[in-house]
Amino acid sequence: MDGDGPVNGRVINANVIVAGENPFAVDTVTARILGFKDEKIDYIKKEKTGKIEVLGEKIESINIKTIKPKNFYIKLIPQFVADIFGKLIWIRPEILENCTKCERCLKNCPVNAIYYKKGKLKIDYSKCIKCLCCYEGCTYEAIGLKESLLTKIFIKRR
Ligand code: SF4
Ligand code: SF4
Repeated sequence: MDGDGPVNGRVINANVIVAGENPFAVDTVTARILGFKDEKIDYIKKEKTGKIEVLGEKIESINIKTIKPKNFYIKLIPQFVADIFGKLIWIRPEILENCTKCERCLKNCPVNAIYYKKGKLKIDYSKCIKCLCCYEGCTYEAIGLKESLLTKIFIKRR
């Protein structure tokens, strides 16, 4: 699944099975197949497993076109721009009108940033760590992603 997965993404058939003894190596190879550079994924960037031996089909020969998740583009903002504009560059979740109040996001938010106000679910952005677990886990597509003006400008230019 690409795009805004794992719930709201698009299913694509890559005709590839990735398997290995080291889960990190499997994740890294899968990310490369999907067109991500290692240094753009924090979890992969931080790990150091050394050289990964890929048996079978070469990564370069797998040709699939994928859509990147919306929040991926925020990582393309150069560090010096992020350092200067810091708090003005963000993407954050927003609970939409079609929320069914199933409370899945409320129960799963790791920092209890989701709460009820006047019968509606709201997000306390002073607590929210922007992990997007709520966004990824809402099966009703009732959580959108809102970008700051500066983020919008930057993303549109790419
Ligand atoms: S998971 Fe989605 S539908 Fe359920 S309460 Fe949260 S926003 Fe509403
Ligand atoms: S993005 Fe993460 S921290 Fe923020 S409200 Fe959603 S689940 Fe909670």
